[in-house]
Amino acid sequence: MLPDDPETRLKTVRDAIAHAARLAGREPDAITLIAISKTHPIEEIEPLLVAGQRVFGENRVQEAAAKWPALRSAWPDIALHLVGQLQSNKAEEAVALFDAIHSVDRSSLVAALARAMDKQDRRPACFVQVNIGDEAQKGGCAISDLPALLEEARVANLPVAGLMAVPPAHTEAAPYFALLAKLARDHGLTGLSMGMSGDYETAVTLGATHVRVGTALFGGRA
Ligand SMILES: *Cc1c(COP(=O)(O)O)cnc(C)c1O
Repeated sequence: MLPDDPETRLKTVRDAIAHAARLAGREPDAITLIAISKTHPIEEIEPLLVAGQRVFGENRVQEAAAKWPALRSAWPDIALHLVGQLQSNKAEEAVALFDAIHSVDRSSLVAALARAMDKQDRRPACFVQVNIGDEAQKGGCAISDLPALLEEARVANLPVAGLMAVPPAHTEAAPYFALLAKLARDHGLTGLSMGMSGDYETAVTLGATHVRVGTALFGGRA
């Protein structure tokens, strides 16, 4: 059962992150909690802002554009992350709106983001999304395509912060987290965006630097 009030939910998640970090010999401060607010209205986001949360994530450009400009003018130190698939024709809007983009997964998107960043002189941190479970329906680049895509991103001057993945549902996530961590190490990348409401503690023990938590903070989505 989720606690009723948002402040207690936030404290519960933060305490669990800190506990998992210490178990793994890591500093709790090394992990950024991204509160995934997709589908939740402004009225449900505000209590978390009041409780001190500043990093949020959305999965749709349109929805983020409708909700966040108003919130940002009230809380200027907000950081907004895009965690959903991004169409190349929305790259400009995404670069203008977000502080980090977790779904860079193909050449055409690398090129579109690079153009948008050059034009706006604004460079949101990028995570390259890996299709870690090799699932047909999922976003993310194939593991075999990762070296070439990272090289393209480097040449295009994208600020690549690390790797992101969503493991297959209904299976033990730990082996996929460990694999993503190994891929990041192999490529000299330090950022690891992995772990959601059901498995963020496991992700932290395996090296996550960014956990993306929705349900455990906001409750279920309609
Ligand atoms: C919705 C979403 C999350 C949050 O999922 P919860 O299970 O509600 O915590 C995390 N990452 C991505 C990419 C998402 O789309």
